[in-house]
Amino acid sequence: MKTEFDVVVLWWWVAGISAAISARREWKSVVIIERNSLLWGLATCWLIHWFEPLCDGRWKQIIYSQAEELLRLSIKYWYKTLDEKRLHWSRGRWRYATMFNPNLFALSLVKLLDNEWVKIFFESQISEINFKNSKITSVDIYTIEGKINIKWKVFIDATWSGYAWKMVWIPYKNGKNYLTYTTTSYKRWLQKPIFERTGASLYGTDHPKGVRMFNNASQDDVNDYLLIGQTLALKEYEKWVKKDLSILPCMVQLRKISMLKGGYILSNKDLCKRFDDSIWVVWVFDTPWYRYEIPVRCLFNKKIKNLFFAGRIISSYGDARETTRVIPVCILTWEVTWIMASLLIDKKEIILQQLHEKEISRWIKIHYK
Ligand SMILES: Cc1cc2nc3c(=O)[nH]c(=O)nc-3n(C[C@H](O)[C@H](O)[C@H](O)COP(=O)(O)OP(=O)(O)OC[C@H]3O[C@@H](n4cnc5c(N)ncnc54)[C@H](O)[C@@H]3O)c2cc1C
Repeated sequence: MKTEFDVVVLWWWVAGISAAISARREWKSVVIIERNSLLWGLATCWLIHWFEPLCDGRWKQIIYSQAEELLRLSIKYWYKTLDEKRLHWSRGRWRYATMFNPNLFALSLVKLLDNEWVKIFFESQISEINFKNSKITSVDIYTIEGKINIKWKVFIDATWSGYAWKMVWIPYKNGKNYLTYTTTSYKRWLQKPIFERTGASLYGTDHPKGVRMFNNASQDDVNDYLLIGQTLALKEYEKWVKKDLSILPCMVQLRKISMLKGGYILSNKDLCKRFDDSIWVVWVFDTPWYRYEIPVRCLFNKKIKNLFFAGRIISSYGDARETTRVIPVCILTWEVTWIMASLLIDKKEIILQQLHEKEISRWIKIHYK
């Protein structure tokens, strides 16, 4: 079995896949470690079915590249709610966004990875991360054949807990979470599934009375969140509030989990601010006339040289974090961490100008007027 790779994508989902595909397209060997038997992440485990917009509030597309590629893949087989001319009506305006079917998205992603020759270790779990001189040298993973050691040059952490980073004592900050337990029902209308929410909206309305907040991203939080959510969902079924429960989510639905402290923490004060090392502009999805630029420093901490963070754990806080934690932005962060990884492998260092050139050539960084 091959156990040496250029890049290891450690737990992934939308974010990790983007890195893996980018790496393969530059002929780097890549492995994805997946602890489940399906490629599970929030957007494929029947919790999320809505791809937030790739445009600003004025209809102008601002996110391209792999976020767009994956958005189109998510609706390749079903749910063609993306109308090229009129886009999608959301929160009072037309947006470049779509609903998608998570099952078909998960299967399409496996096919894509297979076509790109990305190696996937299914049902494998990282047990140990080995470091030497502020670099990660290898990981031990538990597989069906027992423990094996995998070596690689660059490591990308896409877990929602920042697992690898926490092991090297990088400071982190957790977010405030209400209880939301989303289930899916097929039977009421046959044309498309219905997603039903028990508990709170994004803004905390309907947070169940007497239920605590979930602010530590601890094992206790995970246990209680799932236990309370599942009990409440069943209660609503008994009371006929929920008419059917066809699919249950298989991931804990904490929105704001661990945020790792990078070289810069993006926060509310950075609204509409320009950064020389910004990697792109993103729009606040529910307030589309507000935007953030994300400095590249949000994707790493100098303490460890060959480890990057991407997806929902990047260094951002407050409202800025609400902006960076949604699907298209998670994909973008991963694509950029991959470019950084490839620069590190080929050139031994990351030069900002080269990073920007690569981003521009891939339509990640666009000039916004
Ligand atoms: C309730 C809720 C509603 C949302 N609604 C939307 C929406 O409508 N539209 C939108 O665009 N976004 C929405 N989001 C946000 C969005 O879905 C996620 O932030 C995004 O999908 C995260 O992608 P990711 O790849 O960064 O992480 P994840 O999808 O969290 O993937 C991380 C993966 O790492 C694995 N993992 C973590 N720790 C470990 C470990 N120690 N060992 C092994 N594996 C591990 C997990 O199992 C998971 O598969 C919502 C989020 C929540 C919680």
